[in-house]
Amino acid sequence: MLDVENLEVFHGPIEAVHGISFAVAEGQCVALLGPNGAGKTSTISAITGIAKATGSIALSGVDLTPLPVESRMRKGIAVSPEGRRVFANLSVEENLRLGGAQQKNDLADRIAEWFDTFPILGERRNQLAGTLSGGEQQMLAIARALMANPRILLLDEPSLGLAPKIVTQIFTMIGALKEKGMTILLVEQNATQALRLSDYVYLLNNGRIVAEGTAETLGTNDALMAELTGLT
Ligand code: ATP
Repeated sequence: MLDVENLEVFHGPIEAVHGISFAVAEGQCVALLGPNGAGKTSTISAITGIAKATGSIALSGVDLTPLPVESRMRKGIAVSPEGRRVFANLSVEENLRLGGAQQKNDLADRIAEWFDTFPILGERRNQLAGTLSGGEQQMLAIARALMANPRILLLDEPSLGLAPKIVTQIFTMIGALKEKGMTILLVEQNATQALRLSDYVYLLNNGRIVAEGTAETLGTNDALMAELTGLT
């Protein structure tokens, strides 16, 4: 599904990611874990086409690298960015309508589907997004990304700044999406929760992949686990 090879990401003269390779197979949830400044957001920005990058990024064998941001979205990439950005002065439902603006077919049905899957959003459909709690805003940001009917969902630190109980709710939501068959690339500092639902995990540090494996194999590496759980 998503194949990234030898990715280097640049912010002006600064190289933030130094030639990483990773893959996400259809229906999998793959986590990219790492501390602040590891290069997680830079990697997401390179996949969406926002950041300047070299190397190859392919979705189901189609090379995305020559394509601008909008074309990558049309090919099936959607992102819920860091910082749960929602349109504060629009209602929950209006936020979802905007998320589905590129794909007007069955808009009402798809909104109803996400309200069904995430009842908290349905209960608050007419509430202004800016008045939602942090966790509800995060749910809305994810649901809005899903309104584009993506083939792969990129989640940039969905747990950031949320209380532990709310983080658990957000990860339950992500688990529900996985159950529905969604392919997910999850970027996180919260290793404990991310390991629980990921099929495969890459650990990023200083722009390089320093470890990878299934949650089970990484779980048997005590030193690594201490380092990973120390991130949260
Ligand atoms: P965080 O969890 O803090 O968001 P991260 O793993 O997502 O961390 P990035 O945001 O990708 O890390 O940052 C990787 C490196 O690139 C850092 O050294 C950061 O300072 C640098 N960087 C990121 N964005 C820019 C930018 N727009 N201009 C210059 N340097 C940047």
